[in-house]
Amino acid sequence: MQKNRKKQGKQHLRSEGGKKGMKEQVELTCVAMNEEGRGIAKHSGSDVIIQGMITGEVAIVELTRRRGFYTGKIVKLLSKSKDRVQPPCPYYEACGGCQLQHLSYEGQALYKHDFVSKLMTKYGYTEPILKMETPFAYRNKCQAAFGEDKRGNIISGIYQEYSHRLVSIERCLIQDPQADAIINTIRGLMPSFKMRAYNEDFGKGFLRHVLVRKGFASGEIMVVMVVTEHKFQFKNHFIEALLKVHPEITTVVMNINDRDTNMVLGNAEKVLYGKGFIKDTLCGIEFTLSPRSFYQINPAQTARLYQRAIEMAALTGKETVIDAYSGIGTISLSLAKKAKQVIGVELNKDAVKDAINNAKNNKINNVRFVQGDAGAFMVKMADHNEKVDVVFMDPPRGGSDERFLASVAKLKPEKIVYISCNPVTQKRDLEYLIGRGYKVEEIQPVDMFPHTFHVETVVKLQRQNP
Ligand code: SAH
Repeated sequence: MQKNRKKQGKQHLRSEGGKKGMKEQVELTCVAMNEEGRGIAKHSGSDVIIQGMITGEVAIVELTRRRGFYTGKIVKLLSKSKDRVQPPCPYYEACGGCQLQHLSYEGQALYKHDFVSKLMTKYGYTEPILKMETPFAYRNKCQAAFGEDKRGNIISGIYQEYSHRLVSIERCLIQDPQADAIINTIRGLMPSFKMRAYNEDFGKGFLRHVLVRKGFASGEIMVVMVVTEHKFQFKNHFIEALLKVHPEITTVVMNINDRDTNMVLGNAEKVLYGKGFIKDTLCGIEFTLSPRSFYQINPAQTARLYQRAIEMAALTGKETVIDAYSGIGTISLSLAKKAKQVIGVELNKDAVKDAINNAKNNKINNVRFVQGDAGAFMVKMADHNEKVDVVFMDPPRGGSDERFLASVAKLKPEKIVYISCNPVTQKRDLEYLIGRGYKVEEIQPVDMFPHTFHVETVVKLQRQNP
């Protein structure tokens, strides 16, 4: 039987069902993992994408054919990778927020490193990925959706990936434990305050989400209760009861979201306790964080990422630096001391406001922030023949646009430090810059989000042509 199986390669083991929803079981070998950490195997000349399968593993897989491509589910593993572990989280499969918990942390690091290294191979050596020492409880921003189960009990947790099913979660291993404890306390207090959880189907109920934000350096904690209406019954008693259990909370904000939307936060806000914001320190700079401020969620790794990026720029103190896609100014302010002047460009108005305040509060005078599209701003700079020595860029997952890249090429900075949360779009943009006289000199992956497929990469480009 074994010999026969080997000979046939992918053996058909079982077929069932009618024409519609035909399921087949076949034996497949995982030949690689895709950018979302899913296994890839070959069947009848097509790729089969299999969640939870590791390169080199052999398994009996149940196939589903959808719109011309296959997805597969492991029925039985026939040979296991040495990197396979029992996922430490009991909700791992139901939740979907993490995708790599079936891999040891070493195995995850290897997968991420290999993924970047293969993608970037033509540009040279990829440095070993910067791993976390303790890859758990790293998230400083924790969020739980509230709802009811079939019996009407209040539950809190995470919406299953690609679905409207709320998975009840007591403890998420990548979130801060104090944040989980606060969320659980709120859930426990609700019945005695007659507070109902929001019901998505009927659009009824009060509490939709709880967001907990913690300054890991400062210890300050902000709780945001996202509710459906301004009227918060027994508000003072509720806050009092919450603070009694969690005196560590420094501020509580009520956010009103009465729309039928997937967005967590609504537009109206009311501070219920404390100042309405928290402070935190990153790379020696103090930042003020309000409920909506964009702030990297893994501060320990963010500090390493920024240090590495700033190191790549080898600043002497004489440079004019642009920090494009600057958020609340974290990169601009972290490198300000090392440059002559820094200009941060950011589209989001609130983030720019935060950035200006952060510069002021830290008494940093050689940085200015511009609100607008980074591409449009760069075109203006290029049209005015402004001199720029170094460009830092940290665009969203989709990468940069041609307008931005074309004006960078026109501005001709000596160095470009490109930070990306999506190496695939980063590579596309690197191709463009290489075609305009730049050379990749350093490639550094950083593990900002252990147990998920996400990988951050910093690439240094140096101008070649005079
Ligand atoms: N560098 C920051 C933020 C990176 S996230 C940090 O490390 O914290 C990417 C940022 O790009 C977001 O703040 C987003 O609002 C901003 N952004 C998106 N499109 C933009 C555009 N076209 N021009 C300028 N900023 C943009």
